Amino acid sequence: MSSSRLFVANWKMNLLRPDAQRYSEALGRRIGNGPLEVELVVAPSFTLFDAVRDRAGRWSLAAQDVASESEGAYTGEVSASMLADAGCRYVIVGHSERRRLFAEGDPVLARKLARCREKGLLPIYCVGETEAERTAGLSAAVLTRQVATLADDPEEAPLVLAYEPVWAIGTGKAATPEDCRTACLHLKQLLPRRADLRILYGGSVTPGNASEILTDTGVDGFLIGGAGLDPGSFAAIAGVP
Ligand code: PEP
Repeated sequence: MSSSRLFVANWKMNLLRPDAQRYSEALGRRIGNGPLEVELVVAPSFTLFDAVRDRAGRWSLAAQDVASESEGAYTGEVSASMLADAGCRYVIVGHSERRRLFAEGDPVLARKLARCREKGLLPIYCVGETEAERTAGLSAAVLTRQVATLADDPEEAPLVLAYEPVWAIGTGKAATPEDCRTACLHLKQLLPRRADLRILYGGSVTPGNASEILTDTGVDGFLIGGAGLDPGSFAAIAGVP
């Protein structure tokens, strides 16, 4: 069972090779060689895995997406086997940008989760309500519906959920600790038999608001967008001295 806090920097479609090299060097310097009590993960674009891979094993790699099919004539797709082959450990599945901009719905996300499991990749499955759903009092119902996508996911397998309210992503308006506590409680109630479940929060996390969101909320770490593009902010959010 994984109990360490988990911090994931999602670079989205940002940064080029020289940036990735500088980032990796800076993060490595910041972490040093001492004991590391948290788990760090970087999710660069597919083209930068080799530049971000940490040969000392201080952080691991996540992909931002995976193909829903295993192999074959799917131009432009990257399969779970390819990700495993490239040294990836985690895969972000169902990010709200994939759901919204690329029309990914529950059936395709369930297939992506299955592809991850077949190749031993650990999914970071994103859930979260929009502003309109929140205003309509539907936050819990949305999480319930999105978690139902995990119906065929093996309960004994480690799972990372990322609670990412869409209204908090990239807006500078993070959820409150109370919002996070409510969401974590609901998610845990929906998945009572998951022994190895970590719940991340994502949405406008900064070094300034990280510690209050981690305190007594049930949040086990963060999925970080904007602030994860800077190795110093990423390390500060993760509490790496
Ligand atoms: C995200 O896109 O998953 C995210 C949390 O972004 P940001 O931290 O920039 O709000």
